[in-house]
Amino acid sequence: MPTNMISKVLEKAVLPLDVAPPVKRGPASRTSVRRNPNMEKLQNGYLFPEISMRREAHEKKYPDAKVISLGIGDTTQPIPSIVTSAMAEYALALSTPEGYQGYGPEQGQKSLRKAIADVVYPSMGIRDTEVFISDGAQCDIARLQMMFGRDVTIAVQDPTFPGYVDNGVIMGQTGPAADEESGGSRYAGIEYMRCAPENAFFPDLSRVRRTDVIFFCSPNNPTGHAASRDQLRQLVDFARRNGSIVVFDSAYASYVSPGGGDDKPRSIYEVPGAREVAIEISSFSKFAGFTGVRLGWAVVPDELLYADGTRVARDFDRVVTTCFNGASSVAQAGGLACLATEEGRAAVASVVAGYKENARVLVDTFQALGKEVYGGDDSPYVWVRLFPGRRSWDVFAEILGFGPGGEGFVRVSAFNSRDRVVEACARLTSFLA
Ligand SMILES: *Cc1c(COP(=O)(O)O)cnc(C)c1O
Repeated sequence: MPTNMISKVLEKAVLPLDVAPPVKRGPASRTSVRRNPNMEKLQNGYLFPEISMRREAHEKKYPDAKVISLGIGDTTQPIPSIVTSAMAEYALALSTPEGYQGYGPEQGQKSLRKAIADVVYPSMGIRDTEVFISDGAQCDIARLQMMFGRDVTIAVQDPTFPGYVDNGVIMGQTGPAADEESGGSRYAGIEYMRCAPENAFFPDLSRVRRTDVIFFCSPNNPTGHAASRDQLRQLVDFARRNGSIVVFDSAYASYVSPGGGDDKPRSIYEVPGAREVAIEISSFSKFAGFTGVRLGWAVVPDELLYADGTRVARDFDRVVTTCFNGASSVAQAGGLACLATEEGRAAVASVVAGYKENARVLVDTFQALGKEVYGGDDSPYVWVRLFPGRRSWDVFAEILGFGPGGEGFVRVSAFNSRDRVVEACARLTSFLA
C-alpha cells in the first residue's frame, strides 16, 4: 500500500473520533426506555446525602470543629487477626495449584453451613442444609423479596430498617408514598406495626392487619429493643394463625446480653413452632466487623411451605442459584475462623463487648441528663428522645429514614472508638446539661 494511501486510511480511521460530536445531554440523547415506575416511587434517597450536606456545611462554617458522628451504622473497629489471617492464608493458597478453587457450592461451603448450624443454632434443630450462605443480609432481603414477587402483602415494624420496604417497593408490592404529618412517608399497601415505648416496642397484634410476609428485626435497628421471649411467641402464634411467613432479621443477635429475668431469644427458632413459619436472615457484618468483607446467611427450614405445598427452601435455592453464584470463598474462610474455634469466637465477641460498653457509656450519659432513653443493653444502638416535642430533623437529621414512627427520637450509634464516644458524651453533657 503506498504511503499516501496508508495515511488516507489512517486519516479515515482517526477522523470519526476527532470529529465525533460531543455527547448531547439534551432530550435528544435519551433512550426510549421507560423508567421503572416502582423506582419512581422510592422515597428517602435523600436522607444520607442530606445528613452529609448538613455536616459539610457545619464543617465549612467551623473549620476547626472535630465532628464526631454518632450516626454511624457501620462497624469501626479492626477485625481480630485470627480472622484476617485465615482469610490471608486462604487467599495466598489460591496462588498455588493445590489451593486454587473456583466456584464453590452456591449455597456456601459445607463447613461454614455446619459451623453456623452448630454454633449459632445449638439445639434448635437447624440442619446445615437449611443454612444458605450469602454476601450479606441486605442482599438476602432483596433476594427474598424477588422470590416472594409483587403479589404478596408485607408488614414491617415502625420505625424500621429501610431495606425491607424499599425492596418491596422496587418489586411493586406497594402503592405510591404519601407524606405523613409526622415527617416520614408511608407506602400504600404496607402494614406499619408501630413499636414505641408506649407498647414496649411490640405491636398490639390484635390490631395488625394480616399480611403474607412480616419483616421483624430484633434486636431492632433503629430502636435497639430486643424482643422478649413472650413477644416473639406472640409473633410466631400470630403468623401461624394467619398462615403468614415471618422474615426475622437477627443481624444484631450477638449483642443480646445473656441471661437475665426478661429472657430475650437470639433466634426466632428458640420459639416453638417457628420452623413452620419463619425464615431467619443474619450477617457477619455487625457480629464480626464484616461490613466491608461481606458475608451473611439465611435459614430456610424444610418445614416452611407455600399454600400449594411447595417448600419455600426449594424456591430460595432456585433464586440463589439463578442470581447469585455464592459468597466469596475468601470471606467464607474468614467466617469459618469466627466460629470454628473457641479462640475465634472469643476474639469476635470481645469486639462486640467493646461496642456494648460504648453503648453503656451513652445510655449513662443520657440518663444522667434526664433524657428518656432506650436500647443499648442488647444492641449497639441507643434510642433517645433528646428534645421532647421537637421534630427529629430539628434535633438531628438522622432518623427520618426509619419511618414515621421514629419522630421525636434519634438513634445514637455505639459504633466508634471508646475515646470518641467518651469525648462525644462530654460534649453532649456540656451542651445539654
Ligand atoms: C446492618 C444490618 C444488616 C446487615 O446487612 P449486611 O448486608 O449483612 O451488611 C441487616 N439488617 C439490619 C437491620 C442491619 O442494620
